[in-house]
Amino acid sequence: MAEINVQPAYKIIDHTYDTIVVGAGGSGLRATMGSAEAGLKTACITKVFPTRSHTVAAQGGIAASLGNNTPDHWSWHMYDTVKGSDWLGDQDAIEYLVREAPQAVYELEHAGVPFSRNPEGTIYQRPFGGHMQNMGAGPPVQRTCAAADRTGHAMLHALYQQSLKYDADFFIEYFAIDLIMVNGECKGVIAMCMDDGSIHRFRGHAVVLATGGYGRTYFTATSAHTCTGDGGGMVLRAGLPLQDMEFVQFHPTGIYGAGVLITEGARGEGGYLTNSEGERFMERYAPSAKDLASRDVVSRSMALEIREGRGVGPEKDHMFLHLDHIDPTVLAERLPGITESGKIFAGVDLTRQPLPVVPTVHYNMGGIPTNYHGEVVTIGPDGDPETVVPGLFAVGEAACVSVHGANRLGSNSLIDLVVFGRATGHRLQKLIKPGTGHDSLPTDSADFALSRLDHFRNANGGSPTAQIRLAMQRTMSGHAAVFRTDEVMAEGMDKLAGIYRQMEDIHVTDRSLVWNSDLIETMELDNLISQATVTMHSAFNRKESRGAHAHEDFPERDDANWMKHTAVWFNGWGGKDGDVRIDYRPVHEYTLTDDIDYIEPKKRVY
Ligand SMILES: Cc1cc2nc3c(=O)[nH]c(=O)nc-3n(C[C@H](O)[C@H](O)[C@H](O)COP(=O)(O)OP(=O)(O)OC[C@H]3O[C@@H](n4cnc5c(N)ncnc54)[C@H](O)[C@@H]3O)c2cc1C
Repeated sequence: MAEINVQPAYKIIDHTYDTIVVGAGGSGLRATMGSAEAGLKTACITKVFPTRSHTVAAQGGIAASLGNNTPDHWSWHMYDTVKGSDWLGDQDAIEYLVREAPQAVYELEHAGVPFSRNPEGTIYQRPFGGHMQNMGAGPPVQRTCAAADRTGHAMLHALYQQSLKYDADFFIEYFAIDLIMVNGECKGVIAMCMDDGSIHRFRGHAVVLATGGYGRTYFTATSAHTCTGDGGGMVLRAGLPLQDMEFVQFHPTGIYGAGVLITEGARGEGGYLTNSEGERFMERYAPSAKDLASRDVVSRSMALEIREGRGVGPEKDHMFLHLDHIDPTVLAERLPGITESGKIFAGVDLTRQPLPVVPTVHYNMGGIPTNYHGEVVTIGPDGDPETVVPGLFAVGEAACVSVHGANRLGSNSLIDLVVFGRATGHRLQKLIKPGTGHDSLPTDSADFALSRLDHFRNANGGSPTAQIRLAMQRTMSGHAAVFRTDEVMAEGMDKLAGIYRQMEDIHVTDRSLVWNSDLIETMELDNLISQATVTMHSAFNRKESRGAHAHEDFPERDDANWMKHTAVWFNGWGGKDGDVRIDYRPVHEYTLTDDIDYIEPKKRVY
């Protein structure tokens, strides 16, 4: 790739803050609130308007053991999350999550989230996949708090309104390009105002990356086009590792063809899947939880049915989801959004017809490794796997705490956003005294970001961004799918290496700096391609099957050799060839308190 050279042509506008949050989805807004509430001077930078962040699309709900509709207890939520993670989740962080969850939901309620209600006025809770009563024994628990099927929408609007109450500055439609790292410490971030192309240097004592997932590495995903994992790209370029990138969640019910999500809440409300023989096949794969087994299990079952020729449609390549037996008034009240999606994206009236669905990329369990305070961690020079990177935090889907391990349970992401967004606020309050002075930055602090910007802005090769992106997305969808083999992944690694080399030949048509979406999409692609590459390598490297990673050459989970987190580095940019290096961090086999014992690994059946 191009050599780094200094670009003095860009005028830089300087800003100084205590905390800089990058991202205004659920996690970024909660961290912004926490920081501002602590009296810290806080900036929130976001490339889309806050209420357009992908959190707005979350449908089904947010998990907390309130026990409103069925008995529940935080220890049951903990058990389900550990089991859902296929024992790759860190149990100290999981205990923190599930114990803070009820309080976090009440906080949202008081912030104005219009939750659906039970007749007696309490928050309505629905069943979701993998959430059970009695330490996994069952029956299913109703744990997922919902605002109809628009929970994320309600949450994000309430959080944005609340953020405005505090004295935080919003920089909206600013694109963060790269971190400012000085001797291993994060000192700020360089961003571009997309409206006028001005360059902004944000200096701070802490940068919180809340940039969301990188679902758009794949051809079909439920995630928004803006889910390009920019924070992960910045972290890799800063020479830091990402964690557990091989674990990509496929949601069982993306609308066939469009990829638009149909919430698991649809099965929570009684929906079920059938194959071409009209059989409710989930009864064979998960006799107890059936259609409410966890997502990896349902997605794999669907993929097997399709492979064995029992898919529906002319190509026999998808499945049917039935909601036609549910009372239309219940559908209208609890699932109005998906009723509409079915009509628009599949032309189906789901009060009378089944919906064509197929497993679709939905969530990244992997991301920027952190502890449960939101602090980014790495393997230090002395080998300490819990080494904190000073000044750098990550929250939300961009982060890997790790509470979701190898597979996230539905409705456990929204709760992760608010619990760890809030925890980060607490940590910032502890670490930073408001108004503490800043060291002066080295004179070249913006050079790295600007050299990349300038390189892409003037890129004059023969391959348009869209063409390279499509090749990457098709490779990921073809070679890192629900089922994987060594042969298919090795081919995938080769193809991605070629696509990465093709980045040298990229062509950007628009040279301006005003609303240059061509340039922004190119920088997003640069973030995606590094993460696609480390995802494929991490998947090839893990010789077992666990959670969402179904390796057909190694069909069993192998705790003796593989109960560990993958840490992966990418050596790209600035003349480097995109080599990948892999190491490991231990899974935390201990809980946070003595209130609960470590949950011992067991075979995962539903
Ligand atoms: C369709 C759908 C439905 C879902 N339903 C549920 C559900 O019911 N329950 C559940 O628990 N989970 C659900 N999930 C998962 C969950 O919604 C997401 O994991 C979560 O919302 C991610 O939130 P976030 O705060 O991490 O990031 P996001 O909401 O994705 O926000 C990312 C933010 O980062 C900003 N950003 C990114 N890059 C840059 C950059 N370079 N410069 C500046 N700003 C940047 C963006 O502007 C945005 O504000 C769903 C996901 C999808 C896709």
